[in-house]
Amino acid sequence: MNIIHKIIMKATFDINNIIRPTIKALKPYSSARDEFQGVTDDMVFLDANENPFENGVNRYPDPQQGKLKTILSEIKGVSTKNILLGNGSDEVLDLVFRAFCEPNVDNIITLPPTYGMYNVLANINAIGIKEVLLTEDFQPQVEKILNEADAQSKILFLCSPNNPTGNSFNASEMEVLLNKFQGLVVIDEAYIDFSKEKSWIHRLEEFPNLIVTQTLSKAYAMAGIRLGICYASAEIITVLNTIKPPYNVNELTQIKAVEQLNIKDLAKNQIADILEEREVLVSELNGIYFVSKIYPSDANFVLAKVDDATKRYNQLIKKGIVIRNRTTQPGCENCLRFTVGTTAENKILIKALKDL
Ligand SMILES: *Cc1c(COP(=O)(O)O)cnc(C)c1O
Repeated sequence: MNIIHKIIMKATFDINNIIRPTIKALKPYSSARDEFQGVTDDMVFLDANENPFENGVNRYPDPQQGKLKTILSEIKGVSTKNILLGNGSDEVLDLVFRAFCEPNVDNIITLPPTYGMYNVLANINAIGIKEVLLTEDFQPQVEKILNEADAQSKILFLCSPNNPTGNSFNASEMEVLLNKFQGLVVIDEAYIDFSKEKSWIHRLEEFPNLIVTQTLSKAYAMAGIRLGICYASAEIITVLNTIKPPYNVNELTQIKAVEQLNIKDLAKNQIADILEEREVLVSELNGIYFVSKIYPSDANFVLAKVDDATKRYNQLIKKGIVIRNRTTQPGCENCLRFTVGTTAENKILIKALKDL
């Protein structure tokens, strides 16, 4: 696409055209901590009806998660004004639906086989779903997607690296979609830290319709604390802030995330170990007689085609190993998804597969 075309496309994107009218008119709840912000430790807080006896969690958490956002901002190289945090990616995505998709009017576009939560959230919010299957090698069908889109198509979900397939989408095709799709493009980067592809978080200024979601649940080893991250333009972040529950990220989560993220090289080293183990797993799977195809993975799991997925799944369960059977997903007939575990766990898996 030439530069002039690009500029014209972008000039047409205006957040005011896609925000729901009710949300535009909304006056947000103002919490005690919103109304007084000059907080220092030596002050006496008698404004929020908290219990005054200290136990580490007797006070409401910081509604804007200042410390945690500052650390993430440094790690990821994105300004805090472009970051919103939520109770897992699921909450972040739900906020996006509620801000921009009018129930019983608007629709979203998803690209199966992909993460099931987009359709679930659409159904919860009474939003239509247009599905455009990925190609046989699990890439978006750009023309088909753009043809399928209508004036009510508010969000296009691109999961890259994609779950359950494990591959990354072609970056130049994603760029075409960002330029031509008239609504928001959500790029779900739950697995980006395992990937050799670049994150899209550094291109927010270029694409005003871009929302990138990440999570501490996978590479950062904190699925239990529920911390989802949304990166977008300051305008989009402001809208989402208006509708988010005031104290949506609890104090224990904020403390644990700060503590773990401050451990130098922790995630980096674990990611390196997992990637090494992934290669071992792939080469071992290659030697299993009933495995017919192993899909390339840019994530911490591997999708493989076998002779009979349900039979093999049940056999592994009997041996005390739980994997994911993806056979009912379009394009994933007889496919199993293996999460990369520790060296010891992977050895147990491989031995079990060899014994079948
Ligand atoms: C695991 C996963 C997430 C993470 O969701 P959280 O709610 O943050 O745990 C998001 N998207 C995809 C595609 C995932 O596989």
